[in-house]
Amino acid sequence: MRYAKGLQEVGDGFYAYLQPDGGWGWSNAGLVVDGERTLLIDTLFDLHLTEEMLQAMRRAVPAAAQIDTLVNTHANGDHCYGNQLVGDAVIVASERTAAEMTELPPAAMAALVAQAPQMGELGEFFLRCFGSFDFDGIELVLPQETFSGQRAMRVGDRELALIEVGPAHTRGDTLVHAPAERVLFTGDILFSGAHPIAWAGPVSNWIAACERILALDPAVIVPGHGPPSDTDAVRECKAYFEYLYDEARLRHGEGMTALQAARSISVDRWADWGEGERLVVNLANIYAELDGDPEPLNPLVAFQQMAELAAAR
Ligand SMILES: [Zn+2]
Repeated sequence: MRYAKGLQEVGDGFYAYLQPDGGWGWSNAGLVVDGERTLLIDTLFDLHLTEEMLQAMRRAVPAAAQIDTLVNTHANGDHCYGNQLVGDAVIVASERTAAEMTELPPAAMAALVAQAPQMGELGEFFLRCFGSFDFDGIELVLPQETFSGQRAMRVGDRELALIEVGPAHTRGDTLVHAPAERVLFTGDILFSGAHPIAWAGPVSNWIAACERILALDPAVIVPGHGPPSDTDAVRECKAYFEYLYDEARLRHGEGMTALQAARSISVDRWADWGEGERLVVNLANIYAELDGDPEPLNPLVAFQQMAELAAAR
């Protein structure tokens, strides 16, 4: 889907910063403003992109020169690797997100990108996903304040709720909800126009997160990737996971591997969604749940399987 890059006002004092096409690493962020008070939702994958975003925010909203609070919705680098550029802000995240943020340091991403040319099909796929970003010079700044479950926040007179719905996409996924204005920032609990990816799962918990969002009844949803959206996209995400669950259960019973299942399941209903290779990770996640195995798929194995699926298409 085509949509414009940059800052977009999605409500009075609420902004989305959008990075088309929303594919691997091209994440969105959010800004909430009331008078001089500011809260940023997520930073971007590298320092150049985050600096460009902060400049656009300052141009549109002078108060954004000083970010008071930064909320990281989850631990993936495309939502927190730019944290050092808002070093004066108090950084808040769920406890599980803060713990997970230490596990894939930017230097490890830089090393993987550097090694990728020698890594065959996997390396080629990895570069296609992450080759456009610059992981040098990033010193990941971790949250100073953590919470579990739910936490109330204020931005001037605006009231926000941080709602932890993970583990799903990652271990500690958090929604940022403005109930009075009916605006919701979902982080990567919603990908609009792309396949979601269940790194942590269980997928049944992601389905529950979709139900939680629908109960909040937001009028405007800023997804972690893709154009601003509404509850129809959440219903579609829920339907996708429910369908995969049913199809995976059948194939799991027949003894197919997750990769074989990914090759045999039709996802034509979502043919216009990007990143179809993520299907195999979602199926592996459902398989783990059916097996009662609490360990999610190792990310390198996940990328290997996605590379195979992408190459076969
Ligand atoms: Zn993301």
